[in-house]
Amino acid sequence: MVELIYEGKAKRVYRLNDDELIIEFKDEVTALDGLRREAAAGKGRLAAAQTAFFMNYLERNGVRTHFINWDGDRRITVRALRMVPIEVIVRNYAYGSFLRRMPMVKPLTRFSKPLVEFHLKSDELHDPLLTTDDLIEAGLLGREDLQEVINTSLKVNDLLMGLLGMHGLTLLDFKLEFGFSRDGRLLLADELSGDTMRILKEGRHLDKELFRKGASAVDLVKAYAELNTLLGIS
Ligand code: 5GP
Repeated sequence: MVELIYEGKAKRVYRLNDDELIIEFKDEVTALDGLRREAAAGKGRLAAAQTAFFMNYLERNGVRTHFINWDGDRRITVRALRMVPIEVIVRNYAYGSFLRRMPMVKPLTRFSKPLVEFHLKSDELHDPLLTTDDLIEAGLLGREDLQEVINTSLKVNDLLMGLLGMHGLTLLDFKLEFGFSRDGRLLLADELSGDTMRILKEGRHLDKELFRKGASAVDLVKAYAELNTLLGIS
């Protein structure tokens, strides 16, 4: 029997053994810090497939990740890590919370270079923005590990921009999480899906922004299916 060790808004995490976890993607979508919640039949499988596809692609291109395999449905097996409690956001275009704190910038302005920012993972505090000094002083990461997180995040951005660009898609921004393996290596963790990335096709979102802006769960699932078809994800 696998033991449920965590339940979040979009995922459940089970312990498979000392070294491996199972992440199960729910057929549900939430927004507004969980205030809006809808059943979304098929979403879990589509998001698991996206995560498997992107993690495999990154691994093939030299990024070390926690990903082990996908069951073809809503579950992936991953390496158990000691997670760093921060969200790393990479932005190529001005959007979302960037615009809320920088309202003088025109939406969808392309940045001169990708921006990397850090947020404390805390629903209670609404994931506040951190400076690099904050996170080092609080002991969340050492200086060398922080530099590795930045380098890896920028590499992931280059790889994803290239891949999505080949399919006529624009990557506005995305969120990454990292953790340390038992042998002390820093690995890319969590998920890579429409829930964690903003992707435009000819100005249309193929990501969770649709639901955040009021679309139904059914339309969100259709957009995720369209993204998977465009990328050739099974
Ligand atoms: P923003 O900070 O503009 O709201 O989000 C930037 C990017 O990170 C978006 O692609 C968004 O989907 C992702 N992101 C930010 N915070 C979270 C979060 O708490 N959970 C998830 N799943 N994605 C997030």
